[in-house]
Amino acid sequence: MKSFSVAAAIAAFATLALAGPAPAPISSPTEALVERDLPLVQSNQLRRVLLRSELLAKARILEGFAYNTTGRNRQIFTPGHKATYEYIYKFMSDNGYDVEYNEFFAATSSGSLVVDGVNIPARPMTFTPSGKPTGRLVKVNNIGCEASDYPAAVSGGVALVLRGTCPFAQKARLAGLAGAVGTVIYNNVAGPLDGTLGAADPAFVPTVGISDTAGASLVSQLATATKTASLDVLVTDLPTYNVIAQTKGGDKDNVLLVGAHTDSVNAGPGLNDNGSGTIALLEIAKQLTAFKTNNAIRFGFWSAEEVGLVGSTRYANGLSEAELAKITLYLNFDMLASPNYVYAIYDGDGSAFNISGPPGSAAAEKLFEDYFRNDVGLNTIPTAFDSRSDYAAFAARGVPVGGLFTGAEVKKTPEQAVLFGGQAGVAYDVNYHGAGDNVSNLNVGAWIQNTKAIAHAVATYGISFASLGLGKRDIEKRSEWVQEVPSVADQGHEHISSGCGHEKAEI
Ligand SMILES: [Zn+2]
Repeated sequence: MKSFSVAAAIAAFATLALAGPAPAPISSPTEALVERDLPLVQSNQLRRVLLRSELLAKARILEGFAYNTTGRNRQIFTPGHKATYEYIYKFMSDNGYDVEYNEFFAATSSGSLVVDGVNIPARPMTFTPSGKPTGRLVKVNNIGCEASDYPAAVSGGVALVLRGTCPFAQKARLAGLAGAVGTVIYNNVAGPLDGTLGAADPAFVPTVGISDTAGASLVSQLATATKTASLDVLVTDLPTYNVIAQTKGGDKDNVLLVGAHTDSVNAGPGLNDNGSGTIALLEIAKQLTAFKTNNAIRFGFWSAEEVGLVGSTRYANGLSEAELAKITLYLNFDMLASPNYVYAIYDGDGSAFNISGPPGSAAAEKLFEDYFRNDVGLNTIPTAFDSRSDYAAFAARGVPVGGLFTGAEVKKTPEQAVLFGGQAGVAYDVNYHGAGDNVSNLNVGAWIQNTKAIAHAVATYGISFASLGLGKRDIEKRSEWVQEVPSVADQGHEHISSGCGHEKAEI
């Protein structure tokens, strides 16, 4: 998104046909007959028709959407992402679901940095404000995590700060408070710097990231000369789309919502993150058409997750109390095929991390724990609700939440290597948010196991929500459920953190 042309995005959307059909009741006698004659879904029957080959075939399709474009990704506002959500819309429509595009607007940014007439490749940080400041380029002392690192000359100038130790947001904030008109953060590892400030802050001034080599070059030039830097950062809101699909049958007042995000980051095609969750849901949706369910099953394919969980948040916050009450449970699936995987279940009861989900979340965790232990004999570990994926907005409104995750950038521990195999001391997904997050690096064994676990949940809750142990009053009292989500770092527990979303400020 950062280096993406706004004009191209508008052109890409100009031809997009919007479709928002209202869910229609079963009208024709033939449809009604088919619906009635389908067998009620059973976990083992749904699971056994899920195949690795079908997951992989769809993975190659999504990878193709990325690799057929110059960006080689499926980032929001790119042709690769547009191809993805159009494919999902058509796939779900072709399989008989009521499907609609849920439009919303998200921010996109473009930016440039010019120092004494020389253009330096720069990427606006997510949550930067717009602006065209010019000022003297001033190197910040040390690593820019303390106010005292910012010399007086920063005031009215453009701060040049090294990445590391504390979040980008802290540096951007300290630069702004020191009177800088712009902030340039340079990488401390090889390559360009594409980061996020985590959330908007009035103290921020236009802030971009540049590569390690560009940063080092500027630092050496500043040692002998005065330099003038000009930033041009433009943040624009553009439309994007969640795809919402629901079974035609089943009780529409008691809905299981399952969700996965459809966008990748800029760096790569995003097949584990989150082609894996997207495709697991597509394949389950397809195979589910051979069955009927007592409760309706809704599929939420979220856009703009990687830029701050925007799609799921807009959707959840846009639901009326009455519509929200129809969603009995939300289950989230984001990264299911990490190469150095763990089988992690969101810690709904808060037993491991002291961040419990709303009432009902503990039972959703138990369903997955029991399934892995008793049905397939696999170890699992809990993972914290640290609000880094699309369950956050639903949990914030009191909807019980759960889900599965195979790990992102955190390194596997020796204990986890005993439980799951793989390599201790290596990230669960070394390709996380990188160019290597492609089909060839998916762990298909973990992926199919997780897909079957999702199918088990869909079948179980498609029949009945009784195991959640919720009464009518629990749903009426959802709006009273408010819990401050503490930082996982404050928990004092070993944790596998984290999700993929950029919600947390990066360092
Ligand atoms: Zn993700």
